[in-house]
Amino acid sequence: MTDRLRFPSARSRLRRHPEPADPDSFRSPFQHDRDRIVHSRAFRRLAAKTQVATLPASSHCRNRLTHTIEVSQIARTVAVALGLNTDLTEALALSHDIGHPPFGHTGEDALNAEMQQLGLSFDHNAHALRIVEHFETRYARFRGLNLTFEVREGLVKHSRDLDPDDSRYQEYLPLRRPPLEAQLIDPADEIAYLTADMEDALEDGALDIATLCSAVPAFSREFEKVRSSHPTVGDRRALREAQRNLVGILVRGLVQGTTEAAQESGARDYDGVRQLAGRIAVPTPSTRHTMAQIRAILTSSYYNAAARLNAASEYAEALRELFRHYVAYPENLPASHASQLTEEPAHQVVCDYVAGMTDVYALQRHWEILGTRTFGQFRKAAA
Ligand code: MG
Repeated sequence: MTDRLRFPSARSRLRRHPEPADPDSFRSPFQHDRDRIVHSRAFRRLAAKTQVATLPASSHCRNRLTHTIEVSQIARTVAVALGLNTDLTEALALSHDIGHPPFGHTGEDALNAEMQQLGLSFDHNAHALRIVEHFETRYARFRGLNLTFEVREGLVKHSRDLDPDDSRYQEYLPLRRPPLEAQLIDPADEIAYLTADMEDALEDGALDIATLCSAVPAFSREFEKVRSSHPTVGDRRALREAQRNLVGILVRGLVQGTTEAAQESGARDYDGVRQLAGRIAVPTPSTRHTMAQIRAILTSSYYNAAARLNAASEYAEALRELFRHYVAYPENLPASHASQLTEEPAHQVVCDYVAGMTDVYALQRHWEILGTRTFGQFRKAAA
């Protein structure tokens, strides 16, 4: 039933700079977008950006690139189950975090705090749009990646509706919901990071099995099932098996919840989805309840663990110092960014530069330029 809500590729509003149809191409416009994203520099830099685990992290912990790939797998699975446009879904999932600065949400908050002191703001969705519109330079005929309208719209709307008065987004239909494919990204993101962070927190020793089982009954049931059907496997394998099963439960909950919400909404096609008052890509109530339980235990044991917060705040402070340094001395910006100073104020150019850095590059720049901070944890790991 949800397949009639599929966004038809033929209805795309296409690209800002018209491109001649390529008779030899095997790819649809959204497949082209997916490939443009995968080949971009900003996408590759995700490999060296924090997801949750701060430096020095175990090599097994997720970084923002592996997280992105996991979101893409989950979103594609859900799109296939619902009969939606998998090419559009995949392009949106692969680009959803492309605008993330170094050091995860702490880094985002740090840049936002600096920009707010100047009466402005920073968020990774707005920055993602700047990257795909201006900063990627792989094409001779235009700046940016010249992505389709629907992928750019999904980038700025995937996690929230737009403020109708925000002058930056007037072309992106601020009064309309995004297509169902774009709405899927946020819950797929949540399922991916909650289950992955659970595994990383256990690996990290921030969380133990007994605490997790008492906090998340759905996980406990899966764990007990594995223990009774495979009594000889150790805790580690049983945990992984239970974690895999839990991903499946949450994904099915998202498929079912979205199917029910789509039915109740009365939407008949992709345009009907746009006209609705709210979003319809929603997990069932019991799935949402389980996700809230996972979030609660991760928040207290992992996200807000003192050691992680201390390291994160040290890195955030370094980012703010870098920002202030470059605003005071824009002549120290590399030539690639200095040329932007003729078009935009220094703080905007600096914000773009710092947001584009990987974790390690930001620390290296800080070390070379300011050199006063010790980053105890990081040096210990490097030694
Ligand atoms: Mg994400």
